[in-house]
Formats: sequence, structure tokens, C-alpha cells
Amino acid sequence: MRVHAIRTGSVRIKTAQVEGRGHGLASIFADRDWSDWLPTFAWAIEHEEGVIVVDTGQAGHLLNGHGHSLHPFFRWEVYFRVEPEEEIGPQLRSLGIGPRDVKRVVLTHLHMDHDAGLVHFPHSEILAAPGEIDAASGLMGMIRGYLPQRWPNWFNPVRLELDDGPFGPFTASKRLTRMGDVVAIATPGHTADHLSVLVEDGDATLFLAGDTSYNEALMLAGKVDGVGPNAKVSAATLSAIRHLAEKRPTIYLPTHDPESAVRLAARQLATAPLELGGAA
Ligand SMILES: [Zn+2]
Repeated sequence: MRVHAIRTGSVRIKTAQVEGRGHGLASIFADRDWSDWLPTFAWAIEHEEGVIVVDTGQAGHLLNGHGHSLHPFFRWEVYFRVEPEEEIGPQLRSLGIGPRDVKRVVLTHLHMDHDAGLVHFPHSEILAAPGEIDAASGLMGMIRGYLPQRWPNWFNPVRLELDDGPFGPFTASKRLTRMGDVVAIATPGHTADHLSVLVEDGDATLFLAGDTSYNEALMLAGKVDGVGPNAKVSAATLSAIRHLAEKRPTIYLPTHDPESAVRLAARQLATAPLELGGAA
């Protein structure tokens, strides 16, 4: 198995979105401070049962003209940039992975920088959480800032029910491979039905985190973002991630963490291994 970090362009958001201040979107609109340009990662798992892509990244067709959301948040509170060759399709091809090689695409959630690259996967099974699909669809989806009007016309996602029971500290899960080494888990917070994907990869668990937090330090500190609908739910998910990382070697890989690709390459764990020495 090989897992690839695929950077699909960059994004800037307000600092009050990166780390919440307790007043929801209002504090983001009021904030004048921007983050640095952050990456937008997608992931490709080269698995013997077929390639699984987790999130599809940003894509240029959503950033031009009428593609842009009418939602004021996405007009004024976030900047994206992505070059055509940075989109996931061309990057997978340069890795030798064609569109028909990708058996499944799993979406952590349906925000535009996670689902824009769907256009590159017309032959794949697309999986997303039922609640997330419902929240993103139709007029209410548009009002919530999703772009259902820009989904490919073939888009008809499989409703991924997380009905395999709890997984460690997470209340709901679903195996995505027969071997059981790729598992979707419920990680509500950033959106109510956000999910993450765990990959048992040799000596470590890769935690493909989506937007559970914007970086690892925020997860370790339990600091929730500024857009999640329920801060308590977000905090509980961050706590569950820390519990998992205490129990098993975990490499934490959020979508927008500048260090995610480095950590994957260096096999750097979310929790430092117990120091040896001192008192036995
Ligand atoms: Zn998001």
C-alpha cells in the first residue's frame, strides 16, 4: 500500500476561522487578519483492492465567474488559487493512476475545496455521509455555502452509512476494504456529518482528517475552528483523536496543515512516543 499526499492549490482564510472565537461566522466577518496561504490536500491510497481517493481538492472551474458561491462567506472570507496542473486528475496521472484505476472516492465533507475535483472521477463510486449529502443539496445547501449547482451532472453519491459500530473512541465507523485496513469514522464538528478515513499502514495509523482541525497543534490543544455548528461536538471529536493517538501510533493529516505531507513522508506521529530512560 502507498498513500500519496496531493496538494491541489492553496487557500487563505481568516484567523478567526482557523481558531474559533465563540461567535460563529460573525467573528470571521469581523476579523481583519488572514492566515498564510495554506495547502489543500487530497489523498490517494494505492490499495490492492483498488485505488481509494479521499477528498478531491480544489479545481479551477469553481473559481471562475458564475461558479463562485453566492454565499457571502465564500465571496469575501476565503481566497483559493489552483493551477490546472495542480488539480487532482493531472497529478494522479503523473503518478501513473488513471481515472478508471480509482475504484472509490470518499468525501470527508462536501465543501468546495473537497469536492471540486470530483469532475476528474466520472467512473468512480463516490461515497459521502448521508447527512452531509442532505445538508449540501438543493437551495438550503446553497444557502449553507455548498455548491450543489456545480456538481457534475452525473454526481449521484452512495450514501455511506457508518453502521459497523464504534471504532476505538469514535462512535460510528464503516470498513472501506475487505481487509478492514481502511475505515471511515464519524468525526462531527467542522460539519455535523463530517467523516475521516483511517488507514492501517504498516506500523502506524494514517488519520486522513479532512477539516477536523486546520493543523495538528490545534487538535492537540483542543482548539476548535470558527465554522463548526457546535463547539462541544467539535471539541469531543478532537478529544477522541487525541485518545486514539495515545492508544496507537497515529500520523495526523488534516487537509490544510502545511506540515501534513512532511509528516506523512517522515512518519511523524501525533503524540511523541513515550520517553525511555528515567525511572524504569
Ligand atoms: Zn470544510
